[in-house]
Amino acid sequence: MLETTDIQHLTSNIFRMAKIVVLMGAPGAGKGTQARLLQERLGLPQISTGDMFRELAKAETPLAAEVRAVQAAGKLVSDDLVIRVVHERTERSDCEHGYILDGFPRTTAQAAMLEELAGDQGNTIQAVLVDVPFDMLEMRATGRRSCPVCGEIYNVYFKPPKVEGVCDLHPGTPLTHRADDTAEKIRVRLTTYEEQTRPLLDYYEASHRIHRVDGTRDPEAIYADVEKMVTGVE
Ligand SMILES: [Zn+2]
Repeated sequence: MLETTDIQHLTSNIFRMAKIVVLMGAPGAGKGTQARLLQERLGLPQISTGDMFRELAKAETPLAAEVRAVQAAGKLVSDDLVIRVVHERTERSDCEHGYILDGFPRTTAQAAMLEELAGDQGNTIQAVLVDVPFDMLEMRATGRRSCPVCGEIYNVYFKPPKVEGVCDLHPGTPLTHRADDTAEKIRVRLTTYEEQTRPLLDYYEASHRIHRVDGTRDPEAIYADVEKMVTGVE
């Protein structure tokens, strides 16, 4: 049983954490892992635009009908409509103490709309960038190998198997490499990311709200920094 004072302490901690976390990072930077850890350990739900739109495809609400009508007409969902979707989703009780946004905002226009929403909800925004140099992201992807039998992941640069090309536990089976993980394709993905994200990084930079976390370390070390930034507790 928790004592009343414990509950008050917990509650005050939670209230200090009523934050919108805008989690940013290049493909392969490990953003997803950090979002999962924040969700598990701080109870902040991860709100992804992909999930929201999948849910809306089946939901019976006026907003869902509006989104479906736009999509059925083959039109792009406007920023205004997206922010209303985010608003509706984040009014639910699981977002009461804050939430993590994934895939939103994508543009500075959306970021400005998010400011308004945060104001309405009494939340503050923290942008966290899981920062990994592009050459390392390239090595992570091009060096990645997996065992088709047990799923174990290796990396020829960072975590090579004991014997080249085969799993430590399944020496009879050659490791496989994803066709998408060629240097050329990765550079395209990273360039696209850079072009799309740069304005947003500048936007948060200008208001001193971007927190850069060194994403070259192991996930727990990264998480320790991310949590400090999100909770404001050193
Ligand atoms: Zn194996």
